[in-house]
Amino acid sequence: MDFETLCNYFEKLSNTSKRLEKIEIISQILLATPNDLIERIVILLQGKVLPIWDNRKLGISSRQIINIIKTMCSKSVLDIENEWKKTGDLGLVAMNLLKSKNQQTLFSKKHNLKEIFDTIVKLTETVGENSTKRKQAMIANIYSNINSIEAKYLTRILLENMQMGVGPGTIKDSIIWAFLPKIYLINYNLNKDFVKENKKNKDKIKEKLVESGLNIIDIDNFDQFEKNYINADNQNLFYSKDEKLLREIYNFYSNKIENAYQLTNQYSIIINTIKEKGFFKITKLNSKVMNPIKAMLFLKAKNIEHAFENVGKPAAFEFKYDGFRVQLHKKQNEIKLYTRQFEDVTNAFPDVIKDAKEHIKANEIICDCEIVGIDINNPEKILPFQKISKRIKRKHNIDQIIKEVPVRLFVFDIMLIDQNSLLNISFENRRKILEENIIDSNKIQKSKMLISENINEVEQFYKKALDLGNEGIMAKKLNGIYKPGNRVGFGMKIKPTMEPLDFVITGATWGEGKRANWMTSFTLSCKDDESDELLEMGKVGTGFKEITSEEENDTDISFEQMTELLKPHIKKENGKEIEIIPTIVIEVNYEEIQKSENYNSGYALRFPRLSRLKSDRDPYDISPLSFITDLYDQQN
Ligand code: AMP
Repeated sequence: MDFETLCNYFEKLSNTSKRLEKIEIISQILLATPNDLIERIVILLQGKVLPIWDNRKLGISSRQIINIIKTMCSKSVLDIENEWKKTGDLGLVAMNLLKSKNQQTLFSKKHNLKEIFDTIVKLTETVGENSTKRKQAMIANIYSNINSIEAKYLTRILLENMQMGVGPGTIKDSIIWAFLPKIYLINYNLNKDFVKENKKNKDKIKEKLVESGLNIIDIDNFDQFEKNYINADNQNLFYSKDEKLLREIYNFYSNKIENAYQLTNQYSIIINTIKEKGFFKITKLNSKVMNPIKAMLFLKAKNIEHAFENVGKPAAFEFKYDGFRVQLHKKQNEIKLYTRQFEDVTNAFPDVIKDAKEHIKANEIICDCEIVGIDINNPEKILPFQKISKRIKRKHNIDQIIKEVPVRLFVFDIMLIDQNSLLNISFENRRKILEENIIDSNKIQKSKMLISENINEVEQFYKKALDLGNEGIMAKKLNGIYKPGNRVGFGMKIKPTMEPLDFVITGATWGEGKRANWMTSFTLSCKDDESDELLEMGKVGTGFKEITSEEENDTDISFEQMTELLKPHIKKENGKEIEIIPTIVIEVNYEEIQKSENYNSGYALRFPRLSRLKSDRDPYDISPLSFITDLYDQQN
């Protein structure tokens, strides 16, 4: 596939809001992409240029792009800037200005995709003397030979502002449509009138399906499907009269892909496995060190009794540390720390890494940990979250902050040891392996744990956890396995405060008077569980600081800071109202969830208040509607 073809697909995608059309277009893109470029394309579709764990930057400024556009059309910098102000999207400006140039480039050489991606990598590697000039020359060379639609997307790629966030659920469905055997009525339909006329005539329908050129497999039950799917591919079509069975097959596909994704975190591994070895081989995929996996999540219990009802008796209880979740990967002498969103934060914690090397026995390990700030005067006491947030953000003077904010890593689970996955092993046995492999030190410790069936004993443990500055406790099912990415009942959190919710910001309003340069009210959106569609749940305008604090952290956020964060993601402005491309995730506290007809989620919050920025989240790692419904039900 060449770059022009990809950009034409992107253009079609941005011109539709219908989910099924999006799935169809993405499945065509995936089918047309060579194996070695699948991962890059999937990342682009999800709105990013480099994977989140890749800390490199392209380092191209809007100014450089404006200079290139200027030399290509007879416009001044001021003209281009004015156009940019109107639309807020330099990609659109590039497209419009280059439209008149198209005739000249019609017969020139096409850029292949690999060439574009190689340039992106080269840009990240071009540093030092004259690097700005050299980068500019590299991209000017591409601009000189593209059409207007390519210019739109090249500009967005170079500015790392794709404006196209397709959710992981849509990618998953597109993989099914592209590579798996089709399913009648679910992702393959016949003409409606024909079906109506021949509703009772199965043979006629089958005859018509055969005309499609697909290989039809007629089934009556799930056993027959299971016997046949192993050797089937996207040239087959499962046909049945039983619509429920057909839906069951789709869910089967969907669950298998979801499981494989949670373990590998790379759609390219899944797609290439399906293409080269067949769909059923994806059930054999496993996690590997240095390739972070999705974290298991926890439900909230109303109290200790409620937790026991869910996780059984006896159960394990641990302190719930109020810090940052990190996944530790060790391979021989190398250790890396990844956030929940797989950002590599190893460099922020050289002190922890050094200590961990001496206190982890196994050669290869993946562990779940919480990293917390500790009180210099009382090393048993945990500091509030904002201290550790400050440390994670710090890119320079690390030595200084190591002294100011000492940290400790609490290891609370283990998912892999020496190439053996531990995901299907009970919590009790995982904990045993964890204890054999982690030696407690000042910087790295096993989480504090109690196994009990006695409410009074657990009550004491809970009180102690809170006294020492923790958020609460976690209850864990002794025979629960590790389910990546799932909010299953194998663990429950018990904490005194109302469950905060995570929203992505999808809109904002400019302030008035002396706040006129700031955005001061922000539209909150949660997501539909199945389709990933974003649903509004109200606005928040309190909990922000009037004055920007000197130290960057996730808790003291001012209107000015939030405005700066959101500005690059403005999609459209209409008077004071701004539409924002979903990118920034925040945690919000509130007094109550209420039913509401004003918002398409069906809910609104009473007294919403910003709690903190969640800079480790991506726009789809937010509260799902089902979770909000559960909280609403619990409240009533
Ligand atoms: P919440 O963020 O309130 O949904 O709570 C779940 C988070 O608690 C996890 O993602 C971890 O970051 C954190 N946590 C702290 N201590 C523990 C522990 N002992 N076991 C599991 N999670 C913990």
